[in-house]
Amino acid sequence: MIAESLFAVLFPSDCRICGTPLVRISRLPVCQECLDAMRPIAGGVCAICGERLFSSYAFAGAPGEPRCGLCRRIEPAFARATAYGSYESGLRELIHLLKYGGVRPAADVLGRMLAEAIAALEPDFPADSVALVPVPLHRTKFRQRGFNQAELIARAAMKVSRPGDRLRLCAGVLERKRDTTSQTGLTSHQRRENLRGAFGVAQSEAVKGREALVVDDVYTTGATVSECARVLRRAGATKVWVATVARTLKISAQHVEIGPGDEVEELSDAHEVPLARAVGG
Ligand SMILES: [Zn+2]
Ligand SMILES: [Zn+2]
Repeated sequence: MIAESLFAVLFPSDCRICGTPLVRISRLPVCQECLDAMRPIAGGVCAICGERLFSSYAFAGAPGEPRCGLCRRIEPAFARATAYGSYESGLRELIHLLKYGGVRPAADVLGRMLAEAIAALEPDFPADSVALVPVPLHRTKFRQRGFNQAELIARAAMKVSRPGDRLRLCAGVLERKRDTTSQTGLTSHQRRENLRGAFGVAQSEAVKGREALVVDDVYTTGATVSECARVLRRAGATKVWVATVARTLKISAQHVEIGPGDEVEELSDAHEVPLARAVGG
């Protein structure tokens, strides 16, 4: 592995995202054009969960901050979730390079993006300190991967984050007690039950009476971070914020309509989708 990465440094290859030959020697095998294309989410989003809103829908009859249909119906366990970019094309591939390709230098770039997502929450942070809690991996998956991408990204974000001095990394606070990535064949109810109890608070003194910030690489349905927020609050956290590098976004107004499908989607494990996509290419 060391020899392999040394080889990559000495002999730059092609951009792992677009395939263009790299002109600069870099620890990260991604070209500048691809990095520049990873833009922050633009346009209106739900003030609570960060879901994309469409003008005809977002402000209809809702006083105060615009909320998506889901957040109007159900108050999430977290106070607010922000994300840097849309979970698609280049950004998705960059996250996959880290998670499935083991390209650890990608964590530095993703950390800078996470820092921007955190900065959006900063005005509402308390004056003292916020417990920074990366979503944990189950120990089996941790052993397979060799690292927890959420923690690597969180550490990188702390180096550049403006509110970084108020953040206290509490990587051991949450533990994943069950590997929930195998949820196929389960009904919606069984999936929810499967995720319930998947996380435990190992060090409740670190969050008791404090606010916490849960960070992860991707927010897909929000099921995982919601469950993390729920157990943190049960352990005494006064408020839980969420920041992720990327978020899946509704692509058109017609998909924003509330239907039975939204509920089903909300119950699936957030980690299932990227894994399935990675396997399928
Ligand atoms: Zn490229
Ligand atoms: Zn929402």
